[in-house]
Amino acid sequence: MSNISDNLNRIKATLKEGVALCAVSKYHPEEELQEAYDAGQRIFGESHVQELVRKEAVLPKDIEWHFIGHLQTNKVKYIAPFVSLIHSADSIKLIREINKQGVKCGRKIPVLLQLHMAQEETKFGFTIEECRDFIESGEWKEMQGIEFHGIMTMATNCDDEEQWRKEFHEAKMFLEELKELTPSPLVISHDPLASLTERTPILSMGMSHDYPIAMEEGSTMVRVGTAIFGSRGY
Ligand SMILES: *Cc1c(COP(=O)(O)O)cnc(C)c1O
Repeated sequence: MSNISDNLNRIKATLKEGVALCAVSKYHPEEELQEAYDAGQRIFGESHVQELVRKEAVLPKDIEWHFIGHLQTNKVKYIAPFVSLIHSADSIKLIREINKQGVKCGRKIPVLLQLHMAQEETKFGFTIEECRDFIESGEWKEMQGIEFHGIMTMATNCDDEEQWRKEFHEAKMFLEELKELTPSPLVISHDPLASLTERTPILSMGMSHDYPIAMEEGSTMVRVGTAIFGSRGY
């Protein structure tokens, strides 16, 4: 017997006002997503293109599909027509490809810039410096197939709450810096995401173990998997 709807309700009760919940359903079968859907969940996060395409084909059409994993440039085309938000724009090469595919589909694909705050070397993403350079280059202004909605980050994988807090705080400060730029690179969509209760930039941070701290530091979207669906059998 599954507890998905109980888990969902328990987590939703802990969300601060204005914080959206992205239910991270990677590696979980369609039936479990349907169960979460039946309990009212509409935003799902996946991190593999093939898996996302498979699920999108069979699950209800009003789901907002978010892509949260490392995205290979040669696979952008498979999700470009329907993806609601790509959290993990982690290189300029990828951003250019998302833009190209967005133009092909006649849409502006919403993305978040993935910031690399963590200490680990293996994590994907921009450092704050690289991100600043990209914004200052102005290249994004010419891009008709992509729309920048904010920032995503993951804290260092450690047990140190203060370290997580520090990294989340830095991400929030950087988002504030971007908001100050005129014209802001954080374009407000003409076709607002259903989940955006306010027309404010998205700060996607916080997972099952650290989302309460991420919310304290200003997260507006948490990406929770294990605490909803249980552990992933990989
Ligand atoms: C898997 C994943 C999550 C969810 O992690 P949980 O610990 O299961 O909540 C969140 N964000 C990203 C980028 C992920 O890859």
